[in-house]
Amino acid sequence: MEESKCCGAIGSDLKNPGHETITIEKTGNTCPMCETYAKEKASTPIAVMCCEGGCLRGEIARQAANLICHKLATDKTARICLGGAFTKDTGQRSLVRNAKELIALEGCFIECASRMMKGAIPGLTPRVIIADSLIEFDRNLFGIDQMTQDEIKTHALTVAEKVVREL
Ligand code: SF4
Repeated sequence: MEESKCCGAIGSDLKNPGHETITIEKTGNTCPMCETYAKEKASTPIAVMCCEGGCLRGEIARQAANLICHKLATDKTARICLGGAFTKDTGQRSLVRNAKELIALEGCFIECASRMMKGAIPGLTPRVIIADSLIEFDRNLFGIDQMTQDEIKTHALTVAEKVVREL
């Protein structure tokens, strides 16, 4: 049985849909700039990861995460590279694991960032914020080409300001 979500998307009412196991190929490559960044941000209290989705909702969340970490709350927050944190146990994953507070800024209710990182770090309890629930827009839109860049920026700023008010 399916139910309609507030954004117009369809969700399952299955309370515990289970898990899938994914095997990730390891890499021997290390990015020295990324490791330096992770060391510099090790004592920053709030880590902010984002789903980084390629759709409109993901793009708004991505821009909002960047605004939070690089403009509005630079001293308090560390921007996480989700792919790096998810796929290898180096500096980015340590930032996620050791942060006093962890925010998962999700584009939508699929909650990819938090579900991914809960798989990489069992027991992780991020504060999940669904970006598209913080803004008003046409819920039928999907792609970033369906909204002007200025509108996307405005929505991202709205999301970022709302998140920063609660930090
Ligand atoms: S949370 Fe939503 S917008 Fe973000 S990557 Fe997942 S499906 Fe895409």
